[in-house]
Amino acid sequence: MTRGLPNKLPIAGVDKVIVVASGKGGVGKSTTAVNLALGISANDPTKQVGLLDADVYGPSIPTMMNLHGEPLLNNQNMMVPLINFGIKCMSIAIQKLIRQVVWGPLDYLVVDMPPGTGDTQLSLSQNIPIDGAVIVSTPQDIALLDARRGTEMFEKVNVPVLGLIQNMNVYVCPNCGHTEHIFGKDGTKKLAEELSLDILGDVPLDIQIREGSDSGQPVVVSSPDSLQAQVYVNIAKKV
Ligand code: ADP
Repeated sequence: MTRGLPNKLPIAGVDKVIVVASGKGGVGKSTTAVNLALGISANDPTKQVGLLDADVYGPSIPTMMNLHGEPLLNNQNMMVPLINFGIKCMSIAIQKLIRQVVWGPLDYLVVDMPPGTGDTQLSLSQNIPIDGAVIVSTPQDIALLDARRGTEMFEKVNVPVLGLIQNMNVYVCPNCGHTEHIFGKDGTKKLAEELSLDILGDVPLDIQIREGSDSGQPVVVSSPDSLQAQVYVNIAKKV
């Protein structure tokens, strides 16, 4: 995999950086970032994984990862990330703090980007070597339009887009098994075809996923054998 622009300064101790992006808020970007980080770790427990909440507009990683308290400073005035479920986590708002955290050694740092294609996203993409971007979208038209803009932004700054994640495409009634496409059907798949990108995973609209995020017990750790968890674990194999 290429490493983007050669003049980007690596984050000390961090091997791969994967960003999770979306065109707009509320499409499941943070939920995906959390379960992707846990999925990477579930696939290979020897891998050290970190999770950075760079979503300045609505940081939600502390709730989803059940984190409490503030990071401590070490004797070099570097912040020590909080750890839960084996993942080193940090929820911060400004890019320069990325380098004031003792991340290493990490095999993967998953970054929950702010939604959209504004200055923060651009500056992050230009300043750190990103190995790949994963774009989350629902099948709805408007979310798709924004996902297209996101893809274009990463291509402009030479960040390889690994593919799209279609979130909340199908709802399966737990009582009768009836399926409903609440936000439209397969829209993200169609966009992926148009942009010649892969679909990395198709995540259903699911109560266990929602409750897992809200209660700080993400589905990959709370029900590792469930189909829902397997969807994320399979996505994690592709990054
Ligand atoms: P974003 O980071 O894009 O703003 P979040 O990950 O915070 O989105 O998700 C928004 C809301 O949707 C949260 O309440 C989350 O629990 C819920 N959610 C996300 N993905 C799913 C899913 N596949 N099924 C059910 N609820 C989901």
